[in-house]
Amino acid sequence: MKVILAQSAGFCKGVRRAMAKVLEQSGQAERPVYTDGPLIHNPQTIDILSRRGVKMLSEQDQPASGDTVFIRTHGVTPERRQEIMELGVQVCDATCPDVAKIQGLIRMHRRSGYLVVIVGDKNHAEVIGLAGYAGESGRVVGRAEEVSGLQDAEKICVVAQSTLDRSVYDQVAEAVKARFREVKVLDTICPSTYRRQDELRELSRSVDAVVVVGGKNSANTRHLVEISQGCGTPTFHVETAVEIDEMQLKSFHTVAVTAGASTPNWILMQVVDRLKMIDPQGTPAVFRWLKMIGRFVITSNLYIAVGAALLCHANSRLIGISLDWISYSIAFFYILSAHLTSRFTAEGLLELKKSRRGLVFDMEAKFFVWLAGFSASAALILAGLEGPVPFSIMLALIALGLLYRIDIPQLRLPFLGKKSVLHLIPASKDLFMGLGWSFVTVIFPCLLENYSFSSPALYLTFVSTFLLVIIRSLFFDIRDIQGDLILGRETLPTIIGTRGTKVLVLSLTIAYGLLMSAGSAFGWLSGLGYLMLALSAYICLYILLYHKKIIRREIPVEVTGDTQFILAGVLALLHG
Ligand code: SF4
Repeated sequence: MKVILAQSAGFCKGVRRAMAKVLEQSGQAERPVYTDGPLIHNPQTIDILSRRGVKMLSEQDQPASGDTVFIRTHGVTPERRQEIMELGVQVCDATCPDVAKIQGLIRMHRRSGYLVVIVGDKNHAEVIGLAGYAGESGRVVGRAEEVSGLQDAEKICVVAQSTLDRSVYDQVAEAVKARFREVKVLDTICPSTYRRQDELRELSRSVDAVVVVGGKNSANTRHLVEISQGCGTPTFHVETAVEIDEMQLKSFHTVAVTAGASTPNWILMQVVDRLKMIDPQGTPAVFRWLKMIGRFVITSNLYIAVGAALLCHANSRLIGISLDWISYSIAFFYILSAHLTSRFTAEGLLELKKSRRGLVFDMEAKFFVWLAGFSASAALILAGLEGPVPFSIMLALIALGLLYRIDIPQLRLPFLGKKSVLHLIPASKDLFMGLGWSFVTVIFPCLLENYSFSSPALYLTFVSTFLLVIIRSLFFDIRDIQGDLILGRETLPTIIGTRGTKVLVLSLTIAYGLLMSAGSAFGWLSGLGYLMLALSAYICLYILLYHKKIIRREIPVEVTGDTQFILAGVLALLHG
């Protein structure tokens, strides 16, 4: 199935801002954090927030003095704000600035003697809040037909709920203008909403069906559904990938996917990937099988394991040694087991919730546990064939990998406070993975070939391999930043931001290219070092493609990142 993902789908700036505020506060605060009602209209995100200790105010759950209470993205009435402040709590305002702007406009026009007509859903939290600012001078209307019921007034000011369908607003505004003399219509639909709606109108004309992802209680998501249905396109509203009905969608060849302003990226991407798995009726069996095999190779980590074997070859050519099949096989099996094992840790289980691989792992968990055990054993047996020293080193590597992920009180680092567990140290997974790769693709082969450990070539390839692995990990961390923030997982992008991480990735890529070419220029590495500049160029290219949103979905991002290791091996084979 061809899936077109709307550029505007996903968190809007107001939701992003509110989430960032709440997550920052909940990560730092010693005391409980509350929200006054649901922070945003997305049940899955609210569920994760509650598991992170962010509670919703209720009769049973009242805050104590000194706790923090967040005002929801949709805003509240001035009276409600006063009530919260009187609780003696620390009040944090997560009202979207676009909603706050409408509140300000209403207050200003009310003071100037206008009757304020608010167009929207009278039961929606934002409209309830806006009506509070209008007070006695406010009226809420949902449709043009309701305008005739408005009282007479000299001056009328019309505002819209920020997420209203523009065509509904235009109809009501026209009806008000037709009935009253002095009418001021303010354009208060937020830019994020109308961009999303306009793009959907365009898209729904060129596809067979539309899937809208978002909370069933989200007004802006429901408006998207109505807009798409209004265009005459078959439309499906789902909250998560689990709700996708394959039988219903099988008959469509091209499907557009959009999402409400409060839909997190990882849910959106799971829906897209689930749709991609559906083969429309009439797809040839050969094509279906090829697709299935391709997916399996990527999601099972076989692709990256092949990349490890090829990188091992590239490193041996850079250093100038010849390897036998055992070195390649050890690299293949060790990396396969390391990447599979990382999926079965506590941290990994959380990570599964936001990844396409998560769906596959959930379905085939037993098989992947078996595969991880088998590949670790294979790496160990192969190392054992080379003697007791390689066997002991491999055993230590596998044991260290497991110990890293298990919380053993004796191994805690108390001076790190909350993060005393090894795998909770920010970016530690990336560092350990980088060291593991460098070890099995550089140190281990050199050890087996009795290569001199005083050679600069060995250290150059060790560092360059480490850089390649870190670049790949940071690239994936940039992609996962939204899920990591929500799950409270600290990675470099969550600490220094996406922009800073992109700059770092580019700097490391340039450093890699310089290291390789300088190594060749000084005669420490073979001429292959110059050819590796093509690898730097490839990495810059995929970062640019990601930045331009040309590659966004999980599988293409993973393939693009993992291909750098394959490319290193291919360049080595070309170099001879
Ligand atoms: S949809 Fe618009 S008004 Fe609503 S939270 Fe997002 S940016 Fe703010």
